[in-house]
Amino acid sequence: MTLCQGAENAKLWCPVCKQGELRETHNLIHCTLCKMRLDLEEDKVNLDFLRERLANVHMEHLDRGCTLSPKFCLHDMFGLNALYIRCDECSTFEVVV
Ligand SMILES: [Zn+2]
Ligand SMILES: [Zn+2]
Repeated sequence: MTLCQGAENAKLWCPVCKQGELRETHNLIHCTLCKMRLDLEEDKVNLDFLRERLANVHMEHLDRGCTLSPKFCLHDMFGLNALYIRCDECSTFEVVV
């Protein structure tokens, strides 16, 4: 059974709406469908970095033994948008990027 398909060079689907595709343009990652957008202050944050972080938080969540799909949401903190992973079942709530 393969939990993680594709990987490198695959499209990065929007974790928030799960239908749009994430694109990167000039220090901004945005979804082609919903309002998900991340301002990138630092250059090291790009699509590949985000992809890696998403994989990591997914794995950490699985390690908790929770089988529900976590939700992803954007929160405005200190004037900066951050992407959070959230699962009510196992009380996961942490910053992705
Ligand atoms: Zn989206
Ligand atoms: Zn969970």
